[in-house]
Amino acid sequence: MLNFTVGPVMGSEEILNIGAMQVPYFRTSEFSDVMFENERLMCKFAGAGEGSRAVFITGSGSASMEAAIVNTLTGADKAIVIDGGSFGHRFVEICEIHHIPHTVIKLNAGEPLTKDMLYSYDNQGYTALVVNVCETSTGVLYDLDLISTFCRKNNLFFIADTVSAFLADEFDMEALGADVMVTASQKALACPPGISIAVLSKRGVDRVYATDCGCMYLDLKSALKNGERGQTPFTPAVGTLLQINKRLRQIEADGGVSAEHAKIAAIADDFRSRIASLPFEMFTDALSNSVTALHPTTASAYDIFLTLKDKYGIWICPNGGALRDTVFRVGHMGALTVDDNTTLINAFLDLKKRGII
Ligand SMILES: *Cc1c(COP(=O)(O)O)cnc(C)c1O
Repeated sequence: MLNFTVGPVMGSEEILNIGAMQVPYFRTSEFSDVMFENERLMCKFAGAGEGSRAVFITGSGSASMEAAIVNTLTGADKAIVIDGGSFGHRFVEICEIHHIPHTVIKLNAGEPLTKDMLYSYDNQGYTALVVNVCETSTGVLYDLDLISTFCRKNNLFFIADTVSAFLADEFDMEALGADVMVTASQKALACPPGISIAVLSKRGVDRVYATDCGCMYLDLKSALKNGERGQTPFTPAVGTLLQINKRLRQIEADGGVSAEHAKIAAIADDFRSRIASLPFEMFTDALSNSVTALHPTTASAYDIFLTLKDKYGIWICPNGGALRDTVFRVGHMGALTVDDNTTLINAFLDLKKRGII
């Protein structure tokens, strides 16, 4: 199968080969060295700055989303949560479950956050802002300069879900004043699912130590403490962490995070430049490099997904809920090439020729 979903995405041969090996015992100095390097490279690629730390949680991206909230916010906070789709809504639910006082900025699907919307909450005693940098469910990339300036002006603790944005779109924690950045192994890191990562600024680390998170598995204090010796509190997805290590080292050797952005942007731009003759409309103008959300004008989006899966051996990414029949997404992360784009475009053209779209 050729995989254009937004995760798990396709991995390179070298990463896949690590997955075929025996999983080593991990309470060793050798594995600690791997973890020290993982932490160092994650902090570097996140632009996290002096005194920052990264922790690796065994769980999907949502584990780090929840960990970020419960370890840094309390009932004494007042958070702004941007809800522009299913991932934004997940943060709303996390705040509800954990009784974090919050105000939701609810956006229509595909709609960008504007200055007017955000600045109606200026100078109103808010303490934190929570956003999915790329709302992967609709493909919207939010205006980071707008958000960063607003957070600085209001001295907000800035929690950023970059699960799909990390390595795909520019995100520099220090430059933006972000305090927590979460991501996961199965998106642009192009490893199997199983590890989510929270990178904390110095201010983020201080908040974690000052907050009683009220849970054990997601307690980042113990993750930070164990990380000081290159370890995790519990048995991690050891194999996935070895794959992440290989991948981070490759990114470093290939020119770092900006080279990775450029690669993903090139795949995205190539795809977008070749869809003009197809009966699809761009679902949003606020484009991220990681994904293109499309509205097919002549057929059900979900039927297109099924037909490509069952008859062409290609996965695109279906949408759920209200967007099931109106939007599908094409991901640009992972071990994809321009030739792979050609295969997908040819499949779309074939569907058109056959009158299916
Ligand atoms: C994929 C993704 C997540 C994590 O989802 P999981 O299924 O828990 O890994 C979170 N936020 C965004 C923006 C994502 O794209």
